[in-house]
Amino acid sequence: MDYSGKRVLVLGSGVSGIGAASVLRALKANVTVCDTDSLPDLNGFDIAVVSPGIPPDHYVFNELRRLCISIMSDIGLGAELNTAPVTAITGTNGKTTTVEMLGRIYSEAGIRAAVCGNIGVSFAERAYKGGYDRAVLELSSFQLLNASPLKAHIACILNITPDHLDYHGDMRSYSRAKLKISDRQTPDDFLFVPKDLDILGMCGSAEVLREGVDFYADEYITVAGKRIMRTAEVGARGLHNLQNALFAAAAAYADGVNEQVICKALNGFRTGEHRISLVGEYNGTCFYNDSKGTNPGATVAAAECMSGSVALIAGGSDKGIDYSYLFGRLPENVVAVYLTGDNAARMASAAEREGRYAVTVCDTLRECIQLCGRGGYDCVLFSPASASFDRYKNYAERGKFFEREVGFLISGTDR
Ligand code: ADP
Repeated sequence: MDYSGKRVLVLGSGVSGIGAASVLRALKANVTVCDTDSLPDLNGFDIAVVSPGIPPDHYVFNELRRLCISIMSDIGLGAELNTAPVTAITGTNGKTTTVEMLGRIYSEAGIRAAVCGNIGVSFAERAYKGGYDRAVLELSSFQLLNASPLKAHIACILNITPDHLDYHGDMRSYSRAKLKISDRQTPDDFLFVPKDLDILGMCGSAEVLREGVDFYADEYITVAGKRIMRTAEVGARGLHNLQNALFAAAAAYADGVNEQVICKALNGFRTGEHRISLVGEYNGTCFYNDSKGTNPGATVAAAECMSGSVALIAGGSDKGIDYSYLFGRLPENVVAVYLTGDNAARMASAAEREGRYAVTVCDTLRECIQLCGRGGYDCVLFSPASASFDRYKNYAERGKFFEREVGFLISGTDR
Protein backbone atom coordinates (compact mmCIF):
# COMPACT_ATOMS: atom_id res chain seq x y z
CA MET A 1 0.00 0.00 0.00
CA ASP A 2 1.16 3.56 -0.62
CA TYR A 3 1.19 5.28 2.77
CA SER A 4 2.43 8.61 1.51
CA GLY A 5 0.18 11.42 2.75
CA LYS A 6 -2.17 9.00 4.58
CA ARG A 7 -3.38 10.07 8.02
CA VAL A 8 -2.51 7.22 10.36
CA LEU A 9 -3.47 6.91 14.01
CA VAL A 10 -1.15 4.62 15.98
CA LEU A 11 -3.05 3.45 19.05
CA GLY A 12 -0.69 2.32 21.79
CA SER A 13 2.85 3.57 22.40
CA GLY A 14 4.53 0.26 23.26
CA VAL A 15 7.28 -1.44 21.25
CA SER A 16 4.98 -2.37 18.36
CA GLY A 17 3.29 1.07 18.18
CA ILE A 18 6.56 3.01 18.25
CA GLY A 19 8.09 0.66 15.66
CA ALA A 20 5.12 0.92 13.29
CA ALA A 21 5.01 4.71 13.73
CA SER A 22 8.67 5.14 12.77
CA VAL A 23 8.22 3.00 9.65
CA LEU A 24 5.06 4.85 8.62
CA ARG A 25 6.81 8.20 9.05
CA ALA A 26 9.67 6.93 6.85
CA LEU A 27 7.00 5.97 4.30
CA LYS A 28 5.81 9.62 4.42
CA ALA A 29 2.54 9.01 6.25
CA ASN A 30 1.14 11.66 8.57
CA VAL A 31 1.30 9.81 11.91
CA THR A 32 -0.35 10.52 15.29
CA VAL A 33 0.55 8.28 18.25
CA CYS A 34 -1.72 8.10 21.29
CA ASP A 35 -3.00 5.75 23.97
CA THR A 36 -6.65 4.80 24.49
CA ASP A 37 -6.97 7.18 27.46
CA SER A 38 -6.08 10.19 25.28
CA LEU A 39 -7.93 9.52 22.01
CA PRO A 40 -8.10 12.43 19.55
CA ASP A 41 -11.11 13.13 17.31
CA LEU A 42 -11.07 10.07 15.02
CA ASN A 43 -12.62 11.89 12.04
CA GLY A 44 -10.22 12.29 9.13
CA PHE A 45 -7.92 9.33 9.83
CA ASP A 46 -7.48 6.80 6.99
CA ILE A 47 -5.81 4.00 8.94
CA ALA A 48 -5.48 2.93 12.59
CA VAL A 49 -2.57 0.75 13.73
CA VAL A 50 -3.77 -0.86 16.94
CA SER A 51 -1.69 -2.27 19.77
CA PRO A 52 -2.31 -5.94 20.66
CA GLY A 53 -2.94 -4.77 24.23
CA ILE A 54 -6.29 -3.12 23.39
CA PRO A 55 -9.13 -5.57 24.15
CA PRO A 56 -11.21 -6.42 21.04
CA ASP A 57 -14.40 -5.26 22.80
CA HIS A 58 -12.98 -1.76 23.45
CA TYR A 59 -15.41 0.89 22.14
CA VAL A 60 -12.69 2.39 19.92
CA PHE A 61 -13.03 -0.56 17.49
CA ASN A 62 -16.72 0.22 16.91
CA GLU A 63 -15.88 3.88 16.33
CA LEU A 64 -13.13 2.99 13.84
CA ARG A 65 -15.47 0.68 11.94
CA ARG A 66 -18.30 3.24 11.96
CA LEU A 67 -15.94 5.80 10.42
CA CYS A 68 -14.62 3.22 7.87
CA ILE A 69 -11.04 3.62 9.13
CA SER A 70 -8.94 0.56 8.16
CA ILE A 71 -7.61 -1.33 11.15
CA MET A 72 -4.14 -2.91 11.05
CA SER A 73 -1.25 -3.79 13.34
CA ASP A 74 2.54 -3.82 13.54
CA ILE A 75 2.44 -7.48 12.44
CA GLY A 76 0.16 -6.69 9.46
CA LEU A 77 2.40 -3.80 8.39
CA GLY A 78 5.48 -6.01 8.81
CA ALA A 79 3.80 -8.70 6.68
CA GLU A 80 3.24 -6.15 3.90
CA LEU A 81 6.88 -5.05 3.90
CA ASN A 82 8.49 -8.46 4.51
CA THR A 83 9.89 -10.38 1.55
CA ALA A 84 11.34 -13.45 3.35
CA PRO A 85 9.55 -16.73 4.18
CA VAL A 86 7.78 -16.53 7.54
CA THR A 87 7.77 -19.04 10.39
CA ALA A 88 5.15 -18.04 12.96
CA ILE A 89 4.84 -19.52 16.44
CA THR A 90 1.96 -19.20 18.84
CA GLY A 91 0.66 -21.12 21.86
CA THR A 92 -0.26 -20.37 25.44
CA ASN A 93 3.26 -21.23 26.68
CA GLY A 94 6.73 -21.79 25.26
CA LYS A 95 6.57 -19.19 22.47
CA THR A 96 9.69 -17.20 23.42
CA THR A 97 11.71 -20.32 24.18
CA THR A 98 10.74 -21.92 20.86
CA VAL A 99 11.47 -18.86 18.70
CA GLU A 100 14.82 -18.45 20.49
CA MET A 101 15.61 -22.11 19.79
CA LEU A 102 14.69 -21.68 16.14
CA GLY A 103 16.73 -18.47 15.89
CA ARG A 104 19.72 -20.37 17.25
CA ILE A 105 19.21 -23.22 14.76
CA TYR A 106 19.09 -20.77 11.84
CA SER A 107 22.19 -19.01 13.09
CA GLU A 108 24.01 -22.37 13.35
CA ALA A 109 22.87 -23.10 9.76
CA GLY A 110 24.23 -19.74 8.53
CA ILE A 111 20.72 -18.49 7.69
CA ARG A 112 20.01 -14.88 8.72
CA ALA A 113 16.82 -14.95 10.82
CA ALA A 114 14.90 -11.90 12.05
CA VAL A 115 13.24 -12.94 15.33
CA CYS A 116 10.42 -10.47 16.02
CA GLY A 117 6.91 -9.94 17.36
CA ASN A 118 5.87 -10.65 20.92
CA ILE A 119 9.49 -11.21 21.90
CA GLY A 120 9.81 -7.41 22.00
CA VAL A 121 10.91 -6.47 18.47
CA SER A 122 8.62 -4.63 16.03
CA PHE A 123 8.11 -6.74 12.90
CA ALA A 124 7.32 -3.64 10.82
CA GLU A 125 10.58 -1.99 11.82
CA ARG A 126 12.64 -5.11 11.15
CA ALA A 127 10.92 -5.80 7.81
CA TYR A 128 11.46 -2.20 6.71
CA LYS A 129 15.21 -2.54 7.43
CA GLY A 130 15.40 -5.92 5.63
CA GLY A 131 18.66 -7.86 5.30
CA TYR A 132 17.48 -11.27 6.55
CA ASP A 133 16.54 -14.62 4.99
CA ARG A 134 13.76 -15.80 7.33
CA ALA A 135 11.26 -14.01 9.57
CA VAL A 136 10.64 -15.93 12.81
CA LEU A 137 7.61 -14.46 14.57
CA GLU A 138 6.45 -14.98 18.13
CA LEU A 139 2.74 -14.20 18.03
CA SER A 140 0.33 -13.90 20.93
CA SER A 141 -3.38 -14.50 20.41
CA PHE A 142 -3.83 -10.69 20.62
CA GLN A 143 -1.36 -10.16 17.80
CA LEU A 144 -3.10 -12.70 15.60
CA LEU A 145 -6.37 -10.76 15.69
CA ASN A 146 -5.30 -7.96 13.30
CA ALA A 147 -2.40 -9.66 11.54
CA SER A 148 -3.78 -9.75 7.99
CA PRO A 149 -2.08 -10.05 5.40
CA LEU A 150 0.34 -12.35 7.29
CA LYS A 151 1.05 -15.66 5.55
CA ALA A 152 3.15 -18.17 7.43
CA HIS A 153 5.02 -20.73 5.34
CA ILE A 154 5.57 -22.67 8.58
CA ALA A 155 3.25 -22.22 11.56
CA CYS A 156 3.28 -23.85 15.01
CA ILE A 157 0.57 -23.89 17.67
CA LEU A 158 2.49 -25.20 20.67
CA ASN A 159 -0.41 -25.73 23.08
CA ILE A 160 -3.67 -24.11 24.16
CA THR A 161 -4.57 -23.98 27.87
CA PRO A 162 -6.70 -21.41 29.76
CA ASP A 163 -5.33 -17.84 29.61
CA HIS A 164 -6.53 -14.31 28.76
CA LEU A 165 -10.17 -15.32 29.12
CA ASP A 166 -10.99 -11.80 30.33
CA TYR A 167 -9.90 -10.65 26.84
CA HIS A 168 -11.18 -13.48 24.62
CA GLY A 169 -14.32 -14.42 26.57
CA ASP A 170 -14.04 -18.21 26.37
CA MET A 171 -11.71 -21.02 25.30
CA ARG A 172 -13.41 -21.35 21.93
CA SER A 173 -12.72 -17.78 20.86
CA TYR A 174 -9.22 -17.97 22.39
CA SER A 175 -8.55 -21.10 20.27
CA ARG A 176 -10.07 -19.41 17.22
CA ALA A 177 -7.62 -16.50 17.65
CA LYS A 178 -4.70 -18.95 17.80
CA LEU A 179 -5.89 -20.74 14.66
CA LYS A 180 -5.70 -17.49 12.72
CA ILE A 181 -2.01 -18.33 12.40
CA SER A 182 -3.04 -20.70 9.57
CA ASP A 183 -5.12 -18.11 7.67
CA ARG A 184 -3.78 -17.85 4.12
CA GLN A 185 -1.76 -21.08 4.31
CA THR A 186 -1.89 -23.30 1.23
CA PRO A 187 -1.03 -26.96 0.66
CA ASP A 188 2.65 -25.92 0.21
CA ASP A 189 2.81 -24.67 3.79
CA PHE A 190 3.19 -26.46 7.14
CA LEU A 191 1.03 -26.24 10.24
CA PHE A 192 2.42 -28.09 13.27
CA VAL A 193 0.11 -28.77 16.18
CA PRO A 194 0.36 -31.31 19.01
CA LYS A 195 -1.56 -34.44 18.12
CA ASP A 196 -3.71 -34.22 21.24
CA LEU A 197 -4.88 -30.65 20.57
CA ASP A 198 -8.39 -31.00 19.28
CA ILE A 199 -8.86 -27.74 17.41
CA LEU A 200 -8.34 -28.52 13.78
CA GLY A 201 -12.06 -29.05 13.26
CA MET A 202 -12.40 -25.30 13.83
CA CYS A 203 -9.92 -24.51 11.08
CA GLY A 204 -11.77 -23.25 8.01
CA SER A 205 -9.15 -23.82 5.33
CA ALA A 206 -9.29 -27.41 4.17
CA GLU A 207 -6.21 -27.21 1.92
CA VAL A 208 -3.73 -26.66 4.76
CA LEU A 209 -1.22 -29.49 5.08
CA ARG A 210 -1.25 -30.55 8.73
CA GLU A 211 1.75 -32.19 10.26
CA GLY A 212 1.21 -33.86 13.62
CA VAL A 213 4.01 -33.89 16.15
CA ASP A 214 4.58 -36.75 18.56
CA PHE A 215 4.28 -35.07 21.85
CA TYR A 216 5.62 -37.32 24.58
CA ALA A 217 9.18 -37.45 25.83
CA ASP A 218 10.64 -40.31 23.90
CA GLU A 219 14.27 -41.26 23.62
CA TYR A 220 14.48 -39.30 20.37
CA ILE A 221 13.05 -36.08 19.01
CA THR A 222 11.34 -37.44 15.92
CA VAL A 223 9.79 -35.37 13.14
CA ALA A 224 7.66 -37.00 10.45
CA GLY A 225 9.26 -40.37 11.23
CA LYS A 226 12.83 -39.01 11.10
CA ARG A 227 14.98 -39.20 14.26
CA ILE A 228 16.51 -35.74 14.67
CA MET A 229 18.35 -36.04 18.01
CA ARG A 230 18.34 -37.75 21.41
CA THR A 231 16.12 -35.97 23.94
CA ALA A 232 18.98 -36.21 26.46
CA GLU A 233 21.03 -33.93 24.20
CA VAL A 234 18.59 -31.00 24.48
CA GLY A 235 20.25 -28.32 26.62
CA ALA A 236 17.08 -26.94 28.27
CA ARG A 237 15.57 -28.97 31.11
CA GLY A 238 12.01 -30.21 31.65
CA LEU A 239 9.48 -32.08 29.53
CA HIS A 240 7.92 -28.79 28.39
CA ASN A 241 11.28 -27.74 26.93
CA LEU A 242 11.53 -31.03 25.05
CA GLN A 243 8.17 -30.15 23.57
CA ASN A 244 9.46 -26.70 22.61
CA ALA A 245 12.59 -28.29 21.11
CA LEU A 246 10.41 -30.69 19.14
CA PHE A 247 8.56 -27.79 17.51
CA ALA A 248 11.73 -25.82 16.80
CA ALA A 249 13.25 -28.95 15.25
CA ALA A 250 10.09 -29.64 13.22
CA ALA A 251 10.00 -26.07 11.87
CA ALA A 252 13.69 -26.10 10.98
CA TYR A 253 13.52 -29.56 9.42
CA ALA A 254 10.52 -28.54 7.30
CA ASP A 255 12.68 -25.66 6.09
CA GLY A 256 15.45 -28.01 4.96
CA VAL A 257 17.91 -27.60 7.88
CA ASN A 258 19.76 -30.87 8.49
CA GLU A 259 19.61 -32.82 11.74
CA GLN A 260 23.28 -32.32 12.74
CA VAL A 261 22.80 -28.55 12.71
CA ILE A 262 19.54 -28.79 14.65
CA CYS A 263 21.15 -31.10 17.21
CA LYS A 264 24.17 -28.83 17.74
CA ALA A 265 22.01 -25.71 18.20
CA LEU A 266 19.54 -27.32 20.63
CA ASN A 267 22.32 -28.96 22.59
CA GLY A 268 23.86 -25.60 23.49
CA PHE A 269 20.51 -23.89 24.16
CA ARG A 270 19.68 -22.52 27.62
CA THR A 271 16.33 -20.97 28.61
CA GLY A 272 16.07 -17.25 29.35
CA GLU A 273 15.77 -15.48 32.71
CA HIS A 274 12.70 -15.90 34.97
CA ARG A 275 11.92 -19.32 33.51
CA ILE A 276 12.41 -21.92 36.25
CA SER A 277 15.82 -20.59 37.24
CA LEU A 278 17.48 -21.64 40.49
CA VAL A 279 18.00 -18.54 42.64
CA GLY A 280 19.75 -20.18 45.60
CA GLU A 281 19.46 -22.46 48.60
CA TYR A 282 18.43 -21.61 52.16
CA ASN A 283 18.50 -24.24 54.95
CA GLY A 284 18.32 -27.06 52.40
CA THR A 285 15.43 -25.46 50.44
CA CYS A 286 16.05 -24.56 46.77
CA PHE A 287 14.26 -21.41 45.57
CA TYR A 288 13.23 -21.24 41.89
CA ASN A 289 12.11 -18.15 39.97
CA ASP A 290 9.48 -18.80 37.28
CA SER A 291 8.00 -15.31 37.15
CA LYS A 292 7.31 -15.87 33.42
CA GLY A 293 4.83 -18.57 34.48
CA THR A 294 1.83 -16.29 33.98
CA ASN A 295 -0.97 -18.86 33.54
CA PRO A 296 -1.94 -22.23 35.04
CA GLY A 297 -0.50 -24.34 32.18
CA ALA A 298 2.94 -22.77 32.66
CA THR A 299 2.84 -23.25 36.42
CA VAL A 300 1.88 -26.93 36.09
CA ALA A 301 4.81 -27.43 33.65
CA ALA A 302 7.20 -25.71 36.07
CA ALA A 303 5.93 -27.72 39.06
CA GLU A 304 6.51 -30.94 37.10
CA CYS A 305 10.23 -30.04 36.96
CA MET A 306 10.55 -29.97 40.79
CA SER A 307 11.48 -32.93 42.98
CA GLY A 308 10.84 -33.60 46.67
CA SER A 309 8.32 -31.58 48.66
CA VAL A 310 7.34 -28.34 46.96
CA ALA A 311 5.78 -25.09 48.15
CA LEU A 312 4.27 -23.02 45.36
CA ILE A 313 4.12 -19.21 45.59
CA ALA A 314 1.48 -17.87 43.22
CA GLY A 315 -0.96 -15.01 42.60
CA GLY A 316 -1.06 -11.69 40.77
CA SER A 317 -3.57 -9.92 38.54
CA ASP A 318 -6.66 -11.82 37.51
CA LYS A 319 -7.35 -12.94 33.92
CA GLY A 320 -10.77 -14.50 34.45
CA ILE A 321 -9.40 -18.03 34.75
CA ASP A 322 -11.03 -20.81 36.78
CA TYR A 323 -8.14 -21.81 39.07
CA SER A 324 -9.49 -25.29 39.67
CA TYR A 325 -7.68 -26.03 36.36
CA LEU A 326 -4.41 -25.26 38.18
CA PHE A 327 -4.99 -26.87 41.57
CA GLY A 328 -6.52 -29.99 40.03
CA ARG A 329 -3.39 -30.60 37.90
CA LEU A 330 -0.39 -29.78 40.09
CA PRO A 331 1.72 -32.87 40.86
CA GLU A 332 1.29 -34.68 44.20
CA ASN A 333 4.55 -33.37 45.65
CA VAL A 334 3.21 -29.81 45.74
CA VAL A 335 2.12 -29.81 49.36
CA ALA A 336 1.75 -26.13 50.23
CA VAL A 337 0.53 -23.02 48.43
CA TYR A 338 1.37 -19.43 49.43
CA LEU A 339 -0.76 -16.82 47.68
CA THR A 340 -0.43 -13.07 47.31
CA GLY A 341 -1.75 -10.44 44.87
CA ASP A 342 -5.12 -9.30 43.54
CA ASN A 343 -6.46 -12.79 42.84
CA ALA A 344 -5.13 -14.41 46.07
CA ALA A 345 -8.59 -14.91 47.61
CA ARG A 346 -10.04 -16.46 44.42
CA MET A 347 -7.01 -18.74 44.10
CA ALA A 348 -7.20 -19.69 47.78
CA SER A 349 -10.80 -20.90 47.49
CA ALA A 350 -9.93 -23.02 44.43
CA ALA A 351 -6.89 -24.50 46.24
CA GLU A 352 -8.90 -25.21 49.40
CA ARG A 353 -11.63 -26.95 47.38
CA GLU A 354 -8.99 -29.49 46.26
CA GLY A 355 -8.41 -30.34 49.94
CA ARG A 356 -4.80 -31.50 49.58
CA TYR A 357 -2.78 -28.30 50.06
CA ALA A 358 -1.81 -26.26 53.09
CA VAL A 359 -3.01 -22.85 51.89
CA THR A 360 -1.67 -19.53 53.23
CA VAL A 361 -2.66 -16.08 51.98
CA CYS A 362 -0.03 -13.35 52.55
CA ASP A 363 -0.08 -9.57 52.16
CA THR A 364 3.23 -9.46 50.33
CA LEU A 365 5.58 -11.61 48.28
CA ARG A 366 8.27 -10.94 50.88
CA GLU A 367 6.08 -12.54 53.57
CA CYS A 368 5.51 -15.61 51.31
CA ILE A 369 9.27 -16.02 50.89
CA GLN A 370 9.99 -15.71 54.60
CA LEU A 371 7.30 -18.23 55.57
CA CYS A 372 8.51 -20.65 52.89
CA GLY A 373 12.06 -20.31 54.24
CA ARG A 374 10.85 -21.68 57.58
CA GLY A 375 8.74 -24.48 56.04
CA GLY A 376 11.42 -27.15 55.51
CA TYR A 377 10.42 -27.82 51.89
CA ASP A 378 12.85 -29.28 49.35
CA CYS A 379 11.84 -26.67 46.77
CA VAL A 380 10.03 -23.35 46.70
CA LEU A 381 8.68 -22.51 43.26
CA PHE A 382 7.63 -18.95 42.47
CA SER A 383 5.37 -19.43 39.43
CA PRO A 384 2.47 -17.01 39.81
CA ALA A 385 0.04 -18.48 37.19
CA SER A 386 -1.07 -14.85 36.85
CA ALA A 387 0.03 -11.63 35.20
CA SER A 388 2.20 -9.21 37.17
CA PHE A 389 0.39 -5.93 36.55
CA ASP A 390 -1.26 -5.70 39.97
CA ARG A 391 2.06 -4.74 41.60
CA TYR A 392 4.83 -4.69 38.99
CA LYS A 393 5.63 -3.21 35.57
CA ASN A 394 6.08 -6.66 34.06
CA TYR A 395 7.11 -10.26 34.81
CA ALA A 396 10.82 -9.35 34.71
CA GLU A 397 10.49 -6.69 37.42
CA ARG A 398 8.49 -9.19 39.50
CA GLY A 399 11.16 -11.88 38.99
CA LYS A 400 13.96 -9.51 39.98
CA PHE A 401 12.05 -8.54 43.12
CA PHE A 402 11.68 -12.22 44.02
CA GLU A 403 15.39 -12.88 43.44
CA ARG A 404 16.40 -9.89 45.57
CA GLU A 405 14.15 -10.95 48.44
CA VAL A 406 15.44 -14.54 48.33
CA GLY A 407 18.96 -13.07 48.33
CA PHE A 408 18.14 -11.18 51.56
CA LEU A 409 16.78 -14.37 53.11
CA ILE A 410 19.89 -16.36 52.21
CA SER A 411 22.40 -13.73 53.29
CA GLY A 412 20.48 -12.87 56.45
CA THR A 413 20.64 -9.16 55.59
CA ASP A 414 17.74 -6.75 55.52
CA ARG A 415 17.04 -4.00 53.01
P1 ADP B 1 5.76 -17.60 26.40
O1 ADP B 1 6.65 -16.80 25.51
O2 ADP B 1 4.70 -18.35 25.64
O3 ADP B 1 5.23 -16.85 27.58
P2 ADP B 1 8.18 -18.84 27.51
O4 ADP B 1 8.98 -19.64 26.55
O5 ADP B 1 8.66 -17.48 27.85
O6 ADP B 1 6.68 -18.81 27.00
O7 ADP B 1 8.02 -19.68 28.86
C1 ADP B 1 7.27 -19.11 29.94
C2 ADP B 1 6.95 -20.14 30.99
O8 ADP B 1 6.00 -21.05 30.45
C3 ADP B 1 8.14 -20.98 31.41
O9 ADP B 1 8.81 -20.39 32.48
C4 ADP B 1 7.48 -22.30 31.81
O10 ADP B 1 6.95 -22.19 33.12
C5 ADP B 1 6.29 -22.39 30.86
N1 ADP B 1 6.48 -23.17 29.62
C6 ADP B 1 7.43 -23.02 28.67
N2 ADP B 1 7.23 -23.89 27.66
C7 ADP B 1 6.09 -24.57 27.95
C8 ADP B 1 5.33 -25.58 27.28
N3 ADP B 1 5.70 -26.06 26.09
N4 ADP B 1 4.21 -26.05 27.90
C9 ADP B 1 3.82 -25.57 29.10
N5 ADP B 1 4.50 -24.62 29.78
C10 ADP B 1 5.62 -24.11 29.21
